[in-house]
Amino acid sequence: MRRQSLIDYGKPLEPTEVETPTPKGTEVLLCVSHCGVCHSDIHLQDGYFDLGGGQKLDVRGLRQLPFTFGHEIAGTVEAAGPDAQGAVVGKRCAAYPWIGCGTCGVCARGDEHLCNAPRALGVTVDGGYATHVLVPHPRYLLDVEGIAPEIAGPLMCSGLTGYGAVKKALPYLRLGPLLIVGLGGVGMMGLQFARALTDAPILVADIDAAKREAALKLGAKEAFDPADAGARKAIFKASGGGAGAAVDFAGSDKSLGFAQATLAKGGAAIVVGLFGGSFTLPVPMFPLRALTVMGSYVGSPAEAQEMIALVRAGRIAPIPVETRPLDATSRALDDLRAGRIVGRVVITP
Ligand SMILES: [Zn+2]
Ligand SMILES: [Zn+2]
Repeated sequence: MRRQSLIDYGKPLEPTEVETPTPKGTEVLLCVSHCGVCHSDIHLQDGYFDLGGGQKLDVRGLRQLPFTFGHEIAGTVEAAGPDAQGAVVGKRCAAYPWIGCGTCGVCARGDEHLCNAPRALGVTVDGGYATHVLVPHPRYLLDVEGIAPEIAGPLMCSGLTGYGAVKKALPYLRLGPLLIVGLGGVGMMGLQFARALTDAPILVADIDAAKREAALKLGAKEAFDPADAGARKAIFKASGGGAGAAVDFAGSDKSLGFAQATLAKGGAAIVVGLFGGSFTLPVPMFPLRALTVMGSYVGSPAEAQEMIALVRAGRIAPIPVETRPLDATSRALDDLRAGRIVGRVVITP
């Protein structure tokens, strides 16, 4: 099988070739048809996440080199191990990539994406910038018949992230509307899933006027510019006393500062974005405002199934996608890093 692999941190990917594995036990071998190029791959290529203030989170210890990234995987089942019950050769599917150890308490309660010994495809275990990928069990395969193959992979990342975050916001919407902060690809997904999951009004905030306009077209009730000094007051007015929940899809000190300041008493800020920085708030504000600040990281296998069902039901507008061949993967990461990509790039091995 052919792959595009990281040989050394901070360096371009290089072609590598290994023997195509034969699936054992419950394993399933997917022939990769599409694999989305994701912004998080840039941080993995660098070997660290920026924590702000010159601090870095070193993530180089998570994998052995050469390593193959790519966690937004769709393909067809090519072969299945003798115990891979339910895997049908030739079936088109997406791979749930946020796989845990499968044996700990976290995994047992269904939160494999939060496992402390992850086997995440394209993050800690070789992923989809390759002609083939090995999936440890058929339960990680999602039926994506009826969904465009080039978006099936990205749905496992940006789609699931948006869905998982909005679901956490739902219990707080009895206090006020939902505010979505940051209207990049994941934020727009979050907006659409929110429209599908709740009748509560949805407010949006982004510094980019074109994105605000696009969000209004997708059903947001009102849009605000967080750079506008009067935005917080305007949101309080529009919501009749503050948002019930604010989902921060940017994830910077500024965006979280803004998001939490728009909340009604008892409300929750949900942080999704990984832009970076650090955030401080006087401790008494937590009890005095009955404030919740929480994080949300992708979603569970069950949430992936729920999300796919919503996409199948036609609740998500098509995402603009550009496809590129496998040997153009490193170049695609460079383009993403340089901000030269509009929409999504998906590799077709
Ligand atoms: Zn991703
Ligand atoms: Zn586990």
